[in-house]
Amino acid sequence: MNVKYQDLKGVNETFGDDVVDAVRRVVRSGWYIKGSEVEAFENEFAEYCGTKYCVGVGNGLDALTLVLESWKDMYGWADGDEVVVPANTFIATVLAIVRAGMKPVLVEPRLDAAIIDESQINKVLTPRTRVLLPVHLYGQICQMDAINHIAIRHKLKVLEDACQAHGAIYNSQKGLELASLFGRRAGNNGDAAAFSFYPGKNLGAMGDAGAVTTNDRELADMVRKKANYGSLQKYEHEVIGVNSRLDEVQAAVLRVKLKRLDKDNMRRRDIARYYAEHICHPAVQLIPYVADGSHVYHIYAIRCKNRNYLQQLLREQGVETLIHYPHPIHQQPAFNMQGAAFPVAERWSNEELSLPISQSMTDEQVEYVVECINQNIF
Ligand SMILES: *Cc1c(COP(=O)(O)O)cnc(C)c1O
Repeated sequence: MNVKYQDLKGVNETFGDDVVDAVRRVVRSGWYIKGSEVEAFENEFAEYCGTKYCVGVGNGLDALTLVLESWKDMYGWADGDEVVVPANTFIATVLAIVRAGMKPVLVEPRLDAAIIDESQINKVLTPRTRVLLPVHLYGQICQMDAINHIAIRHKLKVLEDACQAHGAIYNSQKGLELASLFGRRAGNNGDAAAFSFYPGKNLGAMGDAGAVTTNDRELADMVRKKANYGSLQKYEHEVIGVNSRLDEVQAAVLRVKLKRLDKDNMRRRDIARYYAEHICHPAVQLIPYVADGSHVYHIYAIRCKNRNYLQQLLREQGVETLIHYPHPIHQQPAFNMQGAAFPVAERWSNEELSLPISQSMTDEQVEYVVECINQNIF
């Protein structure tokens, strides 16, 4: 049996003709940028997240960057002011900080969940700290009560990197059944949030796409302005901007897929629960299944000291896996932080293995992955 890490063609086929019809509708409309599909998606996604505003942008990196640049302008922050961010994340989180002229200050992740260790944040705060940037890594919402508490006490902004957590609900232990009533979706747990709709994300477009969600009108307007050449009104340019817009084709596709996001996330949770309950191998460290709705399992991560060997064995048995991420941020040459040490982040990089997970996987495939791991000797 062959199990791809993620079969995007298969995922998109599960929508039947709906996605193709949406694309066709836009092609035939003759209107491709800043039109009714984007406006409708922005409203639908804001409503889904529970926020007042959603601004579509070109991708997740731009969503993060535009929020930081907007705040910097709005509050007169200086170059080199600091943003607190986990040492284990996708590079874009930290690139956004550097692009905005700010300084990334790294914090260790937790070993039990890969999200930022909130107990370490206080230690790195300085008079120049402006933003806490928690990343809902692998699809799990960070400990937002603690993080927001720190932010309020020190007058900091909170920017959620929600690029892996579409639909996750932070619910303060009320359980999945009541989560959507009492909880707060990823994107509505700070002052602003950045989303990516890269094709492989839980809510994925047919190319690059992203969005910012917020309840702050001024911020939403500033992001929209900066993403559109610094202009809200055609040919009136109030600030320096870029071209980073969500387009009509992507918005139309996302509208189709958003309707099924909760169901697709349920399927991911079912697969994750099966993995968590059935994988049993002395060399494999499982992360306990998160049942309360705060995890949408964008990535199903296990840890294994012989990770590279296990990956090789699985490959030989037809099971494709990935590593998220092979290098922690401080070891990326681009950032010149080689002297730093973050042993927990390094451990995640050395031991993490991402098992196949997607809404198009069959039960047989999921069972096969478990058998392959449990039967191997390593
Ligand atoms: C995907 C991702 C991004 C970047 O999104 P793009 O749309 O690829 O620019 C940022 N942060 C995290 C955590 C991501 O997973």
